[in-house]
Amino acid sequence: MEAPANVMKDRLMNPRQIPSLSLGIALVAFSLPAIAQTGVAAPRVAPASIAPVAVAGQLKAPKNVIVMIGDGMGFNQLDAAGLYRYGTSAAQVAVDASTGAIVRASGTQVPELAAADVKLAVRTTQFGASYDPAAAWSSFGYVLKNPTDSAAAATAMATGVKTDNGAIGVDPNNVPVQNLTELAIATGRSAGVVTSVPISHATPAGFTAHESSRGSYQAIARDQLRSKLSVVMGAGNPWYTDNNKLRSSAKYTYLYKSDYQKLRDRKSGFTYLASKASFDKLATGAAPKRVFGLARVASTLQQKRSGTTSSTGAKRNAVPSLATMTKGALNVLDADRDGFFVMIEGGAIDWANHANQKGRLVEEAGDFLRAIAAVNTWVETKSSWDETLLIVTADHESGYLTGAGADPNWTMLTGRAGSVPAMSWHTGGHTSQLVPFYARGSAASAFTDAVIGQDPVRGPYLDNTSIQKVVAGLW
Ligand SMILES: [Zn+2]
Repeated sequence: MEAPANVMKDRLMNPRQIPSLSLGIALVAFSLPAIAQTGVAAPRVAPASIAPVAVAGQLKAPKNVIVMIGDGMGFNQLDAAGLYRYGTSAAQVAVDASTGAIVRASGTQVPELAAADVKLAVRTTQFGASYDPAAAWSSFGYVLKNPTDSAAAATAMATGVKTDNGAIGVDPNNVPVQNLTELAIATGRSAGVVTSVPISHATPAGFTAHESSRGSYQAIARDQLRSKLSVVMGAGNPWYTDNNKLRSSAKYTYLYKSDYQKLRDRKSGFTYLASKASFDKLATGAAPKRVFGLARVASTLQQKRSGTTSSTGAKRNAVPSLATMTKGALNVLDADRDGFFVMIEGGAIDWANHANQKGRLVEEAGDFLRAIAAVNTWVETKSSWDETLLIVTADHESGYLTGAGADPNWTMLTGRAGSVPAMSWHTGGHTSQLVPFYARGSAASAFTDAVIGQDPVRGPYLDNTSIQKVVAGLW
């Protein structure tokens, strides 16, 4: 397998320049032509805008599509969780900023993702922005310039259209664009969104609403309530604090008071859930047709609660986990014989990155892994990989997470199970680094035909708009 000639840079491929690192793990040195590793699809470069019709003609359409987004989950955030949970990492790389030499650790994928059929990377750029793979690995500050936010990234993944930061389900001219939940419903399927942050926050919003500004939380929640969605679940309960404590008066930050009252008074068309017991029951018991769930917390299920944030010891809120919500959502959606679409977000991974909280990062990314495991189990017991397509990816990296040390620093994360790995963040904001992409099951191979480029470190990559384009092409 050969990398495209245009990304072969002598500076990045001379094996003699690889430094000797004294790390207590097996290191495998790769020169650039070898970066298409085992388990990574052939770096086939396709035109930037793929033709959906061509995809549809070749592969059977998946009945169900499940998109799981770790917000702010770059390769290193995922590995931080893998190291903490299993003592394993899959994508650790050291790059010498002055010589460009690349050293790779031998990797073991977390079990939740090990069986993926397709393992790629994704370009996350917002409308008008670019990503230059060579520049990203020769200048440490390159990926800090002009990164996407979650609104533009969710809109790109949900609609196939690039837009400006802050925009929800609208193009750069503020024109609404059909999203994947609407497409699912238009093709006779059911649809829903699940998140560990407020239901009207940017990522679920990009899949369910059309608003010019991500800050219009209440209007976004109203879009969701007026939609034909079958599932909306997350945080954002007006009566509870970040510590799962009842407030003396409600705070209607994430939905209008009148909409909350309609939900509570059973006049919204949805079955309303709030207590942990009701979410637990939904995960295993009978399922109503439509569910709107607001866990009894203000902004996140766990990340914003009190207690230590540098380690994992703080007492957890007694609210449903992302995995429990995921099981409940699948229980509602799988009643539709025509299939469904659901977006499940580990939203507070990003919040932990913004706050540079090591303990909360491994907790949140670990909770996301548990939600992936719940999906795998559902597919294998209630559906099959022949009829269900699972995509696991991120909207962008945040925090510029690396191994411990000051910048410029492309060093490896190392560690063992049960310990929070030593690590350093290099921003409190987002970066334009490529993020991981996994696809498993029905028609997963369609994504290998959507590769648009080759990164010297991360290998072949897609554009984030390909998620909608490939699914829409298949449907
Ligand atoms: Zn963010």
